[in-house]
Amino acid sequence: MLRSLFQRGPELKSQRELGLMREAGKIVAEALRLCRDLARPGVRTIDLDRAVEALYAKYRAQPLFKGYRVEGIKVPFPSVTCISINEQVVHGIPSQREIRDGDLVKIDTACKLNGWCADAAITLMIGNVRPERRRLVEVAHQVLQIAIQEMPRRRWWSEVALLMQRHATTHGFSVVEQYVGHGIGRVMHESPQVPNYVNREMKKFDFRLEPGLVLAVEPMLNMGRKDTRVLADHWTVVTQDGLPSAHVEHTLALTSDGVEILTRDGDSAPEAPVPTATEQPAADPSAAESAAQRPASPQNTRGLLAGSDS
Ligand code: MG
Repeated sequence: MLRSLFQRGPELKSQRELGLMREAGKIVAEALRLCRDLARPGVRTIDLDRAVEALYAKYRAQPLFKGYRVEGIKVPFPSVTCISINEQVVHGIPSQREIRDGDLVKIDTACKLNGWCADAAITLMIGNVRPERRRLVEVAHQVLQIAIQEMPRRRWWSEVALLMQRHATTHGFSVVEQYVGHGIGRVMHESPQVPNYVNREMKKFDFRLEPGLVLAVEPMLNMGRKDTRVLADHWTVVTQDGLPSAHVEHTLALTSDGVEILTRDGDSAPEAPVPTATEQPAADPSAAESAAQRPASPQNTRGLLAGSDS
């Protein structure tokens, strides 16, 4: 979602509320699995969208993207999924466009069931995908996995975001900054903002990691530069340099037992643990130039992101 829409503290969820969000999460996971099964060369992106819309209708789940309005954008979002191909980063509008061999197809969708929301996204690799694109997708998955494994081990989100960013940049990719993850609960976009990077500007938004926190964490990685722009359709975000982008997202609940992936696809194998920057030296010496690239420790990350505050 667009950065800087809200600035309040996060609302913590009870066990009962997490149970309700889990049910919404299962439907989102099923919707994305359906897309995974249907997507192949020649299939139109609108076909995937219609399949998801029918699935939500079957469960009487409310699609959260269709009709979604953002201040400053005159046109509400027209579809139940965002489908973004190759250089399209997020918020692509499903259309007659056919999926082609070698495409990276990013599908993002969210629904509300019994008053509670879930939101997730996948990047599909269609057919023969070039090795560098495969690597981009693999690293995007690892970056999300870092969030999952580090959230229970860190005190502040900025510590996690730093590790995510560092993993992306040491593999030669950039992290999109214009769009960030978000808290989620009764509404899709709740406080806090959940950036996948660390910088001075974001420091006033840092927040503590505590049980009951539910976040839609959604790293967007670009093969080239981080910069994006929006197409004339008012929604589709593309990379400025036209190089491909990958996007993966889960709705994650932090509990006293660890992280629960509320949108986990029950059919998929768990992701392998990813060694983080604190456990492996940075491959790229130039990365050390930026303050945001310093090794994570509770002391210096707190200094980077947690402000005068809280
Ligand atoms: Mg989201």
